[in-house]
Amino acid sequence: MSTLFTKIINREVPSDIVYEDDFVVGFRDINPQAPVHIVIATRAEITGVAAVEESGDQQHLIYAARKIAENEGLEKGYRLVINQGEDGGQTFDHLHMHLLGGRKLSWPPG
Ligand code: 5GP
Repeated sequence: MSTLFTKIINREVPSDIVYEDDFVVGFRDINPQAPVHIVIATRAEITGVAAVEESGDQQHLIYAARKIAENEGLEKGYRLVINQGEDGGQTFDHLHMHLLGGRKLSWPPG
């Protein structure tokens, strides 16, 4: 059975897709934590960072984040987050990066 993010990528579940290439797809988070909050998911159903290999689709996540940040006008900066596992706050076992921006982000995160 495909993951929610695969269903979003395949347009089986509606979302606001803002970026696509051969490896990853970016769409607006349904519960945004900043004025700009985009989820960038791998087309491949990699379960998370813990399953990342030396080369593959996941290598494209940061490049896609940079392109989306430019498109979104985040010249003042932004944050990239990948939650891994229970303690990391991961809720969907499909590798994805959060791009957050459009406001001053505090540190450390909660
Ligand atoms: P995680 O907690 O796994 O790092 O991130 C999952 C993210 O997916 C959350 O920020 C959550 O708001 C977002 N999300 C969950 N369901 C949907 C959905 O149906 N559509 C969209 N666009 N985002 C979703």
